Amino acid sequence: MKPIKVDTIPVDGLSIDFLLKPAWLKEIAQERPLGFVPSGPLTVHGELTKTGKDILFRGKVEGKIRLNCSRCLEPFLEKLEQPVRSEWRMVFTPLGSSDKEDVWQIEDLEAGLIKEGFLDLSERILEEVILSVPIKPLCRESCLGLCPICGENRNTNPCNCKFKDEDSPFSILKDYKV
Ligand SMILES: [Zn+2]
Ligand SMILES: [Zn+2]
Repeated sequence: MKPIKVDTIPVDGLSIDFLLKPAWLKEIAQERPLGFVPSGPLTVHGELTKTGKDILFRGKVEGKIRLNCSRCLEPFLEKLEQPVRSEWRMVFTPLGSSDKEDVWQIEDLEAGLIKEGFLDLSERILEEVILSVPIKPLCRESCLGLCPICGENRNTNPCNCKFKDEDSPFSILKDYKV
């Protein structure tokens, strides 16, 4: 979505619908790690409102993202359904000369950044998606992971290797036995 010029946001708000397209996401992923691999577009839906100098976006980003399981290392699809709430404040910056128009700048209250009078919703929503990605994704809670001895995926290729309990992803559970 193109950046939104803040002085065009009507008093009764603006309904927002757009896609974060895979091509755009892949372009960004070349510059910085996203923590996920795009799998189809992410849809963004919400409402942008302006009250005085405060701008608020409330909405939701949905879609599917591809993650790598931190135990078995296999890729898997994860459903994403992330509420998004972002706030900005308009900061008036008089230029002090008569031949140029004074400009509004936008302070991103989450990132603490000040930018020219445009809101980049795509960028802000991508930040929310990146933050929502689990640090240690699991293909499923019961994933058995890789065998520490032969390296086989124990979900699909159970092996007969003998290894100590503390190597198992479930070793921590035994401390909670009642
Ligand atoms: Zn797994
Ligand atoms: Zn093994």
